[in-house]
This record gives sequence, structure tokens and C-alpha cells, in this order.
Amino acid sequence: MTEANTQPEVNIGLVGHVDHGKTTLVQALSGSWTDQHSEEMKRGISIRLGYADATFRRCPGVDEPECYTTEEECADGSTSEVLRTVSFVDAPGHETLMATMLSGASIMDGAVLVVSATEDVPQAQTEEHLMALDLIGIENIVIAQNKVDLVDRDRAVDNHRQIQEFVEGTVAEGAPIVPVSAGQEVNLDLLMQTIEEEIPTPERDPGEDARMFAARSFDINRPGATASELKGGVVGGSLVSGELAVGDGLEIRPGRQVDEEGQTEWRPLETSVRSLQAGNNDVESARPGGLLGVGTGLDPSLTKGDALAGQVAGEPGTLPPTRHEFEMKVDLLDRVVGKEDDESGESDIEEITTGEPLMLTVGTATTVGAVTSARDGECEVSLKRPVCAEAGAQIAINRRVGARWRLIGIGTLS
Ligand code: GDP
Ligand code: MG
Repeated sequence: MTEANTQPEVNIGLVGHVDHGKTTLVQALSGSWTDQHSEEMKRGISIRLGYADATFRRCPGVDEPECYTTEEECADGSTSEVLRTVSFVDAPGHETLMATMLSGASIMDGAVLVVSATEDVPQAQTEEHLMALDLIGIENIVIAQNKVDLVDRDRAVDNHRQIQEFVEGTVAEGAPIVPVSAGQEVNLDLLMQTIEEEIPTPERDPGEDARMFAARSFDINRPGATASELKGGVVGGSLVSGELAVGDGLEIRPGRQVDEEGQTEWRPLETSVRSLQAGNNDVESARPGGLLGVGTGLDPSLTKGDALAGQVAGEPGTLPPTRHEFEMKVDLLDRVVGKEDDESGESDIEEITTGEPLMLTVGTATTVGAVTSARDGECEVSLKRPVCAEAGAQIAINRRVGARWRLIGIGTLS
């Protein structure tokens, strides 16, 4: 297999406060800019989850960490060896986009927490994102202390200590802190080495049922394409288990909303895998890791404009049920995290009450639910939009606090 065909084998989330350098770091490691969408460029924030792949390599006969590189050619002219391709999921840092970050967390195998050395620790989303990693149980974490080119030694040392204190008692306690400058591309070799050591590729069982969480869906046809030119709808997302191959049958749930005689119903979609793209290459089969594009036989009007984002795909008959309501066990945070001082609303988290609206993120799906019954540590919700999820699935629970939806806890589907 040539290097260009290496499918990414591990998903690493980039999390941290806005402007601390997540996108710059991904760009420095992968050579591609994840803020591709013009609207995002304009607003300067990554609205959608951006994915970018980076192939980590090693120059033979060179000491650590200098041997780590993303270049094919080493300083002495020899060719570097491929270690593995990693897929970075660049989470947005903007505080209102917590749900998108959490939906990315459901497919993260590990995370790089980016903290700017130029600001006090923690900034609002540094805390909020770390809390989310903690709740979701993402344990393999590397901390990149970024922008060290902008601070003097004393400030860097002081900031390093602040980071250490801040992560104490969290899932990131003891995580390595690597000083870097994403902008000046300083110390990225040590960062790569640390990622190699701390965020291993999870063991996967190709025999498990294929399960894909859709994050995007598109219509790739040009306007005015004739019927014979029309290509089927494309679903983009992450395979979390099993293997998917061209020719496989594919069911997508909840599927399509059908309104008939005043009744609304969700019908699963059934099609087949017509083509597969992994790491920007056409492939015959794919395993978990990175972003996958699945060409289907679906009418492209069903997939356009992210219509299937949040849905689940897999072999027909193997998917979990579509749920319009469910019961969950609830673990609430101690207090609202990531709240700015000037925001209104309580910082203490009250128990969930019957009748209140919650925003729930389940896999890559985000849906609003009304609480129909609440007991100690448990509640039942009725959803505006159904989700496909299995018992045991983790759910990020958000409540409106002040003007925003805030993460208040994590649920486990009963
Ligand atoms: P994000 O919001 O976390 O994705 O942050 P960006 O990657 O968009 O970076 C925010 C700003 O910080 C941009 O203007 C970057 O050019 C700048 N920046 C990022 N990393 C560094 C760095 O290591 N050194 C310096 N001097 N600037 C940086
Ligand atoms: Mg960014």
C-alpha cells in the first residue's frame, strides 16, 4: 500500500479555548486547513467539525524526538518511514457550539487539549471542553501548551504550573504538557512523539457489526445534471466499529420523515454502498478511523444539506432501534462550567425537573427533548426528533442557562 492510500486509523480531537491555536496546529501537522467553509473563514471559527489527516513518519537513525516528522524526505536525503496516519477532528471553540464538540467526542479515541501560554488558565472553553472529555471518558490526552513564541521563560513556566494545577483531579491529571508554537512550527516533533506514546490506535474487531455515525450528508451533483449523470447521495461520518465494503447493504436510521394523512413517521432508509472514500482516496473497504465518505444509491435529495447528519448507518437489520422517547440515568456536573463572569443564570446545577426542555447529543445527533418524568438520578424524555441509539449510549445533557445551552451532565440510555 502506498503512503497516499493509508487510511487514518485513529481519531484525535483538538479541543480548547477559541483562538488558542487548534486550527493552526492541525494545519501545521497536516498541511491542510480545516476551516474550509467560506462562512467559517469569514467568522474565523470552525463551525462544523473539521477533519484533517496527518501521516506521522520517522527518519531512521535519527534521535528522538527529532526523528518524528510529517515530511517524506529526511534532512540527510533518505526517505522517512510511515508510522501511521491520524485523523484530527478540529472541534470548534466557540462556546455556543458545545454540542458539535460533544458529537465529535463520541468518535474521539484521544484528544489534544490546546492551551495558549499567553492567557491565564483556565479560559472558559478550556474548562468546558476538559469537563466534556472527563464526562465522556476520553482518557488519552496530550496537552499542547501553544504560542510559547509569544511569552518569556518565566511566563511559560508559570503557565505550565497553572495547567498542571487545573487538570488535577480530572481525566487529564498527569497528562504530558508539551510546549509548542503551532504558528512557528516549534517542537512539533516532540508533540508527535508524545501523541504516538499517549494515544495508541484502539484495537478493533473487524468482525463486529459495522456502525457509522453520520456527521454530514451531501448531494454531489451539479445543478442541471441529467438523470443518467446523477450520482446517489453521499453520507460522511465515522465508522466506530466493524468494516464497510463497496457492495455492502446499508440501512440508515432513523431515516426519512414521512408525513401521511396528518401522521408523521420515520422510515429507515435502505440502500447499498456504491463507493467509499477514506482519507481522500477511493477504497474498496474501510475500517474505523478518520472521516469516511459513503456513496449510496439514495436519491440525492434525501442527503443534501446534511439532512442525514446525526443518523446511524450499518448492515440492514443490525441497527439499534429508533427512539422517540427514552429513559436515562443522569450524572449531573457540580456546577455550570465555562460560564463567563458577565453571563446571567445560576452557576449551581439544579436537579432536572419534569417539563423542562433539554438539548441532548447522542452520537452525532443533537435533538431537543422535553422531560416527561424526572426522579432522583433518572429521567424520561420525549424527543422532537427521534434518534437511533442503543442501550448504554452516552448522552450529553444541555440546559438553557442564561442565554445559552450549557452542558449540565451526562446521561446513560437505559
Ligand atoms: P483556534 O480558534 O483554536 O482554532 O485558533 P486558530 O488556530 O485559529 O489561531 C488563532 C490565532 O492565533 C491565529 O491568528 C493564529 O495565527 C494564531 N496562532 C496560533 N498558534 C500560534 C502560535 O504558536 N504562535 C503565534 N504567535 N500565533 C499563533
Ligand atoms: Mg479553529
